[in-house]
Amino acid sequence: MNNYTKKVYLNLKKKYAHEKEFLQAAEEILESLSSYVEKHPEIEKNGILERFVEPERIIQFRVSWVNDKGKVQVNTGYRVQFSSAIGPYKGGLRFAPNVNLSIIKFLGLEQVLKNSLTTLPMGGGKGGSDFDPKGKSDGEVMRFCQAFMTELNRHIGQFTDVPAGDIGVGSREVSYLYGQYKRIRNESVGVLTGKRLSYGGSLIRTEATGYGLCYFTDEALKKYKNTNFNGKRVIVSGSGNVALYACKKAMELGAKVVAMSDSSGYVYDESGIDIDLLIDLKENKRQRISEYAKIKNCIFNNVAKDIWKIKCDIALPCATQNELDLESAKALVNNGCFMVCEGANMPCTKEATNYLMENKVVVGPAKASNAGGVAVSGIEMSQNSMRFSYTAEEVDQKLKNIMVNIFNTIYDVADKELNNKYDLVSGANIAGFKKVADAMLTQGVI
Ligand code: NDP
Repeated sequence: MNNYTKKVYLNLKKKYAHEKEFLQAAEEILESLSSYVEKHPEIEKNGILERFVEPERIIQFRVSWVNDKGKVQVNTGYRVQFSSAIGPYKGGLRFAPNVNLSIIKFLGLEQVLKNSLTTLPMGGGKGGSDFDPKGKSDGEVMRFCQAFMTELNRHIGQFTDVPAGDIGVGSREVSYLYGQYKRIRNESVGVLTGKRLSYGGSLIRTEATGYGLCYFTDEALKKYKNTNFNGKRVIVSGSGNVALYACKKAMELGAKVVAMSDSSGYVYDESGIDIDLLIDLKENKRQRISEYAKIKNCIFNNVAKDIWKIKCDIALPCATQNELDLESAKALVNNGCFMVCEGANMPCTKEATNYLMENKVVVGPAKASNAGGVAVSGIEMSQNSMRFSYTAEEVDQKLKNIMVNIFNTIYDVADKELNNKYDLVSGANIAGFKKVADAMLTQGVI
């Protein structure tokens, strides 16, 4: 880090010492921006970084609801409106028991740069709650979502802040949230994305993050290795929204996905994952991944993290933050893996990323490689404003163009400005930051 980025980071560390995920993300970003801010003294002169790492607004609220037994439950809700420099706040809602302000702030900060990379006019935000939808009845999930939106509705709007899904928030939750927004505000507008098709959703939104991850990876395979997915062995962690559609697209492009996981363990199916079966088990029946192993008579191991010990060419971590550590990175390198593209947000620890890069493994950083979801959310917003729908082919083509463009943008920064074509992490941070900084510089001190 240079003096300026170090000063900004140390100040954050002092103020938010207990926010470890936020500090982890901020440190990586500030480190990457050091060379850029040195060449652009106006950034320091105008206090851009100090403002960039501090959310414009943090909303924290109580969510009270009643469970099926008639007992009152209390959760905490959050919305971090991080940056509106280039457009309305945009970013998902996460419902999971480990959600806290540090996690929401790290995701919000990443989202600012990610949204900038898509080239669409979207600022960055993130929100959620420590509510766990797992094991709850549909009625309980509905009552929680209604209580959550009863407070959130006053802070969001189609031109202000447009939330979407994330871990624990799929189309069921988005639908309950949207219904409650409509009931309170008496307006049908594109205030949430990831909606169902019947009331304003976009085709391909469900698939977008996973598909986009594969389009990005495919472009990286072409650029670095002059090859494609065909015949490659792939591991995808997780079996939620991102993972399922990453697996589906990778297989469509000719790869063999041999292992997938959930938080209870992984399945290893040497014949290749039967993705239609897994989608049915996970999306329709809300089953654990061990059910897949029972039906297919394949291996189930209850240590999810050991999935990285299986031999593969390409690894796509699509579950959660810090799921791939140094030990996992070493196992991947030992087994000849040459590309890791992040579907989840910050799935690789800093040590893992550094080790992979040192060993010339191509690392596709999340804010670039998983930007397909928010890109199609941006396209959903446009469709809602126009009161018009694109066909699946049209959305898919736009998604593909955006992902190819993101890859080439960050590759060019890494290669031409940093002289290290393997440093896509810094390439993504710098490329995303340029536009945000420019907007902040021109809008005055706000
Ligand atoms: P989901 O809730 O749909 O799925 C998450 C999956 O990860 C579940 O299968 C979950 O298993 C599994 N999982 C959680 N922790 C672990 C673990 N330690 N080891 C293995 N598996 C685990 O979430 P999404 O697919 O939507 O999100 C996944 C990641 O992608 C997150 O980091 C999210 O922020 C990011 N992302 C999502 C986008 C989207 O459009 N949905 C867009 C961009 C990024 P279990 O059911 O057991 O908990």
